[in-house]
Amino acid sequence: MKRIPVTAKILAPIALKRDRQSDRSGSVRSVTGTAVRGALASLYLQQHGWADDTFNRLFLNEASCRFSPLDPGPKYFPSTAASCKREGINHALVDQLWYRIAQHYTAGLVAETAASPWRQCSKERCQADLKRHDGFWEERANNDLREMNNDRQHVAAHVGIDRHTATAADAILYTLESTLPSCEKKDLYGWLLADDKALDGLKELLASEGYCISVGHQRTRGYGDIRIQFGDAVEAVDLKTDAGNWKQWSQKLVTFLSSPPLCVPDIDPEHFYFSLSFPTGAIFVDKFLRYSLDPATMLSWLSPMSSVDNAFPIQDRPIHNFSSGGTMRWITAVTKHERLRGWNAAHGLPRQFEWSVARGSVYVYCFQGTIEEREVLFQQLKDLSKDGIGLRRNEGFGTVIISDDFHYQFRNQREVES
Ligand SMILES: [Zn+2]
Repeated sequence: MKRIPVTAKILAPIALKRDRQSDRSGSVRSVTGTAVRGALASLYLQQHGWADDTFNRLFLNEASCRFSPLDPGPKYFPSTAASCKREGINHALVDQLWYRIAQHYTAGLVAETAASPWRQCSKERCQADLKRHDGFWEERANNDLREMNNDRQHVAAHVGIDRHTATAADAILYTLESTLPSCEKKDLYGWLLADDKALDGLKELLASEGYCISVGHQRTRGYGDIRIQFGDAVEAVDLKTDAGNWKQWSQKLVTFLSSPPLCVPDIDPEHFYFSLSFPTGAIFVDKFLRYSLDPATMLSWLSPMSSVDNAFPIQDRPIHNFSSGGTMRWITAVTKHERLRGWNAAHGLPRQFEWSVARGSVYVYCFQGTIEEREVLFQQLKDLSKDGIGLRRNEGFGTVIISDDFHYQFRNQREVES
């Protein structure tokens, strides 16, 4: 499958409710991969009438076509990103992952002065606390970034319609939050993984509609029209380049941990550290189909997370033997569960609730082994980044980034101009 960047222009306001059942529900800023896939599948059925081979290839076969969410920006801040509580990233943006690794090594005993760059805004005379920074961003030159602001949210009041008289219902008024179109060329960003046949099928399907589809709530009231655009397929990077970047990330982390102000003792420079990030969330289940937060429930070669009782000191954490030699240990994770809701248009019923690993979750592991043993691990990581992990991958879940450069770029506090 090739990776194709997808962008969309909002033509009519999109209403995306956080919760289906409440009239007062706040809105979300992203169109989920489930909704994108659903909108296209329903368009296909309208045009063709039944589910044929092309339908299966486009919407049911994970090995030939996968849809991502459409977000207000190309990238999502990891759960470890933090900013100034008062002034946001204009004052300070920092990634707390590497600092958190140090905390695990020292069992939380980091001197207050040494820890302050990851806890307090260091802008002159501010000193406000840092808090989790959520949202979307776009890469800029010189390792800079632009945050996608949230100023296009709009609230409209509507009257309810009486079912019997088909006129305005007495005393029923409700509000609807929506995202308005902007004056930019692109409003939403995502990607598509598809083989050539699936891509041709999709282009044919969209061409007949002028590349326009409807997503979200209140479509019968004129909400939710977007125009999709495909970019050029992105060339896949070879294993050697990837492995080189991962090794560098690990070396930079080792230097960071063993240097001031943290000066973590006993960090072995021969160990290989890597992180797994889930920018679109993921759904993990164990063999009894119970939801889990631990990627190791789906990957037998990965070290399981420790229980709290035997997590400290870090040297006592259980060691996982890697199948082809070497050992691995779980170091830290910033993760949480999120409830997934949805509507199954084919059945005309709500989807079953599921628990997913939240977008932006990060896990860190440490591998110890010879160069040959490491090569096997690199191959596993490469396969993981290509295939993804977990359930519902054709709706965009389970995308993995190995050793995200964001953690390095923002390891220390920085101001970002918006
Ligand atoms: Zn500040």
